[in-house]
Amino acid sequence: MKFHASVLAFTLLCPLFPVGASHGEEATNRANWAIAIHGGAGSSPAQLDEASSEKRSQGLQNALQKGRDLLAGGGTAVDTVEAVIRLMEDDPIFNAGRGAVLTEDGRAELDASIMDGKTLGCGAVAGVTKVANPISLARRVMTNTKHVLLAGPGADQFAAGQQVPLVDPDYFITKRVVHDAATIVSSTHDSADIHYGTVGCVVLDSHGNLAAGTSTGGTAKKLPGRVGDSPIVGAGTYAANGLCAVSGTGVGEEYIRNSVAYDVAAQMRYAGKSLESSITEIMLERLSPGTGGLIAVSQQGDIVMQHNTPGMSCGAADSTGRFDTHLVLENGGAPADAISESPEAEIEALIEQQAADWNDGDIDAFMNVYWKSEQLTFSSGGEISRGFDATLARYKKRYPTSVEMGKLTFSELEFLPLDTSAMQVLGVWNLKRDLPIGGRFTLIFRHFPDGWKIVHDHTSKSPDEPKP
Ligand code: ASP
Repeated sequence: MKFHASVLAFTLLCPLFPVGASHGEEATNRANWAIAIHGGAGSSPAQLDEASSEKRSQGLQNALQKGRDLLAGGGTAVDTVEAVIRLMEDDPIFNAGRGAVLTEDGRAELDASIMDGKTLGCGAVAGVTKVANPISLARRVMTNTKHVLLAGPGADQFAAGQQVPLVDPDYFITKRVVHDAATIVSSTHDSADIHYGTVGCVVLDSHGNLAAGTSTGGTAKKLPGRVGDSPIVGAGTYAANGLCAVSGTGVGEEYIRNSVAYDVAAQMRYAGKSLESSITEIMLERLSPGTGGLIAVSQQGDIVMQHNTPGMSCGAADSTGRFDTHLVLENGGAPADAISESPEAEIEALIEQQAADWNDGDIDAFMNVYWKSEQLTFSSGGEISRGFDATLARYKKRYPTSVEMGKLTFSELEFLPLDTSAMQVLGVWNLKRDLPIGGRFTLIFRHFPDGWKIVHDHTSKSPDEPKP
């Protein structure tokens, strides 16, 4: 899987950036203003060259500093969100405004949204092509129209009378983006392999109001007219006083399907959950690894930032003095108790249990440790097969009775942690029966809220003699 491959590469190449101050502050220490920003989730920072990492970190610091100055001076949440995002849209290192990724036919189509937690007022634009700062146009939709979302030529037309800077469509296209687009065409890379670079900002201001905003060029090589989650209130952006302000980045289609930003607020409202546990549930349980990240701030000033991609550019600051930026968060920003203290022992026990289940003739129990997803992959003898259901059916067909199943043993297990939530396991398998078979295997385990699961399984045998 790309996710794990890049985690491995990253782990080898560069130490984890430390996460700054802890998320939850004591009541007495509560921040009276707080801000978090993101500059997109995606591949590991180890895949960025030094100059790009430097520019990206600098861009995050500039934006965070702007937000901190505005909020420390009593600025409002909505003004701060707009100003911070404008700065990031103007910075070509990010995939928003200038520097946005391009459609399949080589054009920039920009999406943005903003939401005011005090009034639930919101505004968004999708597919704009001539507006330097889509976030400002989204704000004009919120304040100057009775609508929430304007799209395409109508949105560009609306911009003409709104005192927002208009530019030639070529303004957005930078050398970096043209180069990246060429790389995507000429290799097996798709947009999941690059650092996405969408931008977002969430704020609690000193007046007690929340606001959130997100701006993007979308996903590289998207179909003309494709709209992601960033301009969809409730998917990529949400803010409601009393609860939280949220901005997402990642595979927009998944964020729309799962109403991600609103879901954070809904878990808090209806299930009484904390901001952190609401986000952990979504990032680790509901969205597949590699989907994206979230930043959020609660009414109490708690900041939560999490990602289930190898990297996410992000930063946080508040009135207690916190100020930190990152290109990746340790354990994706998830709380430490979301993972085991001794993963090797836990995984070894699972593998032993798997062999015992197999030898009891219970294929369902044997399969329990596999990721129940269409994205589960197996590779063997030069072939790749996919999907939990298909695998279960194949095993049941291939091993109808205990005669075919034989007696399975695993040995020579070697555990290679990729990061705190991913593990590579090497070993040897043997199946004793009339025609004994065996070989080597490589498993990639990923930690989910319900435990460690195999997300990829490679064996050295050919497809007609697969590992059970
Ligand atoms: N969520 C954005 C979209 O799908 C892309 C991103 O965040 O990288 O348009």
